[in-house]
Parts: sequence; structure tokens; C-alpha cells
Amino acid sequence: MASMDWLEEMHAEFEDEIIHTKSTYVKKMSQDYYWYSPVLKKLLDHHSGDCVIAPRDEEELISVLSFAYKRKVPIVSRGGGTGNYGQIVPLYGGIVLDTSKLNKVLEMKEEQATFQAGCKLGVIEKTLRKHGQELRFYPSTFMKSTLAGFIAGGTGGIGSIQYGTLWDEGNVLQLSVVTMEEKPRKINVTKKEELTKYIHSYGISGIITEATIATAKKTDWHDMIVYFDDLQSALLFSEEVSRKPHIKKRLVSVCEAPLSSVFKPLRTYRSETKATVLLQVDPDQTQEVMNLILEHGGETTDTFAQYVKNHNLRVSDFSWNHVTLWWLKQNEADTYLQGRFDPHIYLDQVRQLKACFQDEVLIHFEWIKARGKLVPSSQPVIRYTTDERLQQIIDAFEKLGIKVSNPHTYLLEEGGKDDWIDDICIAKKQNDPCSLLNPGKTKYIAEGIHEMAGEEHV
Ligand SMILES: Cc1cc2nc3c(=O)[nH]c(=O)nc-3n(C[C@H](O)[C@H](O)[C@H](O)COP(=O)(O)OP(=O)(O)OC[C@H]3O[C@@H](n4cnc5c(N)ncnc54)[C@H](O)[C@@H]3O)c2cc1C
Repeated sequence: MASMDWLEEMHAEFEDEIIHTKSTYVKKMSQDYYWYSPVLKKLLDHHSGDCVIAPRDEEELISVLSFAYKRKVPIVSRGGGTGNYGQIVPLYGGIVLDTSKLNKVLEMKEEQATFQAGCKLGVIEKTLRKHGQELRFYPSTFMKSTLAGFIAGGTGGIGSIQYGTLWDEGNVLQLSVVTMEEKPRKINVTKKEELTKYIHSYGISGIITEATIATAKKTDWHDMIVYFDDLQSALLFSEEVSRKPHIKKRLVSVCEAPLSSVFKPLRTYRSETKATVLLQVDPDQTQEVMNLILEHGGETTDTFAQYVKNHNLRVSDFSWNHVTLWWLKQNEADTYLQGRFDPHIYLDQVRQLKACFQDEVLIHFEWIKARGKLVPSSQPVIRYTTDERLQQIIDAFEKLGIKVSNPHTYLLEEGGKDDWIDDICIAKKQNDPCSLLNPGKTKYIAEGIHEMAGEEHV
């Protein structure tokens, strides 16, 4: 069936109000932050869906899926569109499913809450805080990103130092998932081994419509910035704060000089030469943290904390992949990597990387817990020159024992967070027999693709 035929039928079947076909809008809604990667930019720039459809409730969403199944039209769910790997870029055209209208708070209990898929995490955090609770952890894009987009596309974030990642037991408690079949089924998923079929799945195994997550008791976090003359002192300090279980914290983020010099509020400070550690700690423990800062030769200033407060920001707006974003604003040809260093030898891994690449690799760590263990997870900035050189750097990371999550691929298997890829693909086969959900994002299932309406493959 030619592209235009199904679009016409769609207009006949659904109200105009929920269908968008203006090409500039459709293109915008078909993009995420894949442009962080010069490799993905080349591969994905020319891709777009054919239309955007924004169902107003779950019933309408199910009708859209049913329609798409009958016409064999590919469908890609879109939350806030803040993913980094072209996760929402439709490779075969079709429908971009805008979930933003599914944004209801469904239930709030003492230490858990249920929301519709398209609820923005910023709204969730605000709502929880009014009830004495807060998110256990969230990505630095939380003002734009949605709950289901985070679950299906993210990993962890601010708070992961305490609570781990999306895969750690007890964080994601329940998902309602709708299948892509002639008669879409709604599945209630609660078991750990079932939840992993939908976490970081790029929406290829089903559409999440509701999620229940564990929440934490609200803390009025104290934001701090600490400067060090050298990276090693900053790392040793950050590790000690991270390792002290009684110091309650939400963020321990380390940047090598001159990364933090691009943070707007720091431009007047000597940040060109300083390594920085950003912290969010329990205000009751500020004095103990201050003592540690002095022991490690660091210094703090209130200017930064004051600036972020006055501008309604938090230090977390300068952490996680926001560090890369701030950097790319001024150095647009550069890029980044993601990887987990080995907590036992990370200082040596850093030393060897710096000896090999000097300022071509600029170190940025986020301390997190994964499977209960403290890990220096990293998003170093790479001064990009060529794809070949980028690959050499990735190879060097891997040779040193750093587990790279490659952000320069749109394939789930190659992104480095593929421990559960078999589970995801089993669910895809059951829930999406015609491979219509976000097709092309996995190598696993190719059948059916030739029958799809829409554009040619990458
Ligand atoms: C500056 C910056 C900082 C970032 N910081 C972090 C961070 O701290 N931690 C982190 O983990 N990530 C981070 N990211 C990546 C990204 O922002 C997060 O993963 C975010 O939570 C994605 O949410 P979203 O709503 O924007 O998802 P989208 O980008 O819209 O979608 C992500 C994936 O989820 C799928 N999806 C969306 N909705 C559904 C649904 N209802 N059902 C099934 N699948 C669905 C999409 O198809 C896509 O594959 C960052 C990105 C940027 C650009």
C-alpha cells in the first residue's frame, strides 16, 4: 500500500485534531539528540516519519495501533524526544506516536506511585514533592523527558548513587504494556524477569501505557560545587564521599578541566584550570562533607550554588549528559562516549587514557550504584576528528577494561546495554509479530520489513 493511501484512511478514521502531517513538525518530532554523534548524524539526518498522531487516551492509542497493524504501517513511540541514540528516529517512515497527552497521575501511595506513560518526570517530581516524596532517580533531562521514555530509553541518573539503575530490583515495579497485534492486548507486567523485556527496549517489544515506580522520602538537597587543582584529587574526594554510606547524597559528578569552564555560571571563575565535583547532599551532612573537602585540598564557592538557585536551576543541570550538551554548545564538532570504569583500577585506567590521548579525551564521571556495587560511570567528551579515530579511542577504552556503551549506534545490540536483548526479542516476537514497532533498531527480527509502508532502510 502506498504511503498516501494509509494517511488518507487515517484521516477518515481519526479526528483531525490528533493527526499532524506538516512536514517541518513531523521532522522535528522524528528527531532526538542523535546529533551528539557525528556517526549517527550522517546516518539519521534524512529520516522522518510520515505523520505524528497524539492519542488523547489509552483507548484511542489502542485504536491507532490496531489501525497501523491492519495497514502494516511502522510506529515509533515518542516521549520527550531527548534520547541520544536516534531511538525515536523512524527508519522506515510511518507513524510517530506522540504520548504526551497520556499524562495523568493515576495513584500515589507511601513509597510508590503510578503514572500514565507520557507524564513528564519534572511534573512527577513536583507532584511527589508536594506529597513528601521524590523520584528515586531521574535523568538530567527530566523537565522534558517522560516516564515511559526514560524506562524504554534511559538507564539512570541523579539519585542512581543511592538507588542504582532502571534494572535494579525494586525501582520499576509495574508496567502496563499494549501489544502490536490485530487486536492489541494489554499486559500487566510485574515480575523482574518480565520487566526486563521492556526496560531500555526502545519500544520495540510493546507500548508502555502506565508505569508504577518506587519513590523515596523527600529531602531538601543541598547543592555544592568543589574545585580541585588536579583531576586525581577530585576523583579521590568523589570516591570517598561516594563510599561513605551514612552520607546521604543524590549526585556525585566529576569533570576534568576545562569541562566545567563551559558552564555559564562558572565563566568568570578559574574553571579553565580546575577539576570540579558537583554534589547534592543531605543538608544535615554538609559539615562532614566540608571537612572532607578540606582534607582533599578542595575549595568551594557559594557563587555557583547561588547562581543556580537564582536562575531556578540545580547543580544537576550541569551533570550527566548535560555536561556534554554544555560542551557541544561551544565545541559543536566534538562528541562523547559512555562507559563504566572498573572501580578497583579506575585511577590507573584514567592515567593510561590521559597518557595515550591527552586532551583528546576529557574525563567526566558520575558515581552510581549498579547491582548494589559502586561504579564510576563515565561520559567523557571526545575531541572528534574522524570516525576511524573515534573507533581507535573506543578500542583503547575496551582494551583497558572499560565497558563501553557505544552511543554511536542506533542498534540495541551494539549500544552496550544489551544484557537483556534476548528477553526483549522474545517479547517482540510475541507482541509485535509483524515487526512494526520501531523497526530497524535491532538486528534480531528482519522479517516483515519489506512489506512496510514508508521509506527505505538506512
Ligand atoms: C542533555 C541530555 C542529558 C541526558 N541525561 C540522561 C541521564 O541523566 N540519564 C539517562 O538515562 N539518560 C539521559 N539522557 C537520555 C534521555 O534524555 C533519557 O533517557 C530520557 O529519559 C528519555 O526520555 P524521553 O521521554 O525523552 O524519551 P524519548 O527520547 O522520546 O524515547 C526514548 C525511547 O523510548 C521509547 N518510548 C517512548 N515512549 C514509549 C512508550 N510509551 N512505550 C514504549 N517505548 C517508548 C522511544 O520509542 C525511544 O526508543 C540524556 C539526554 C540528553 C540529551
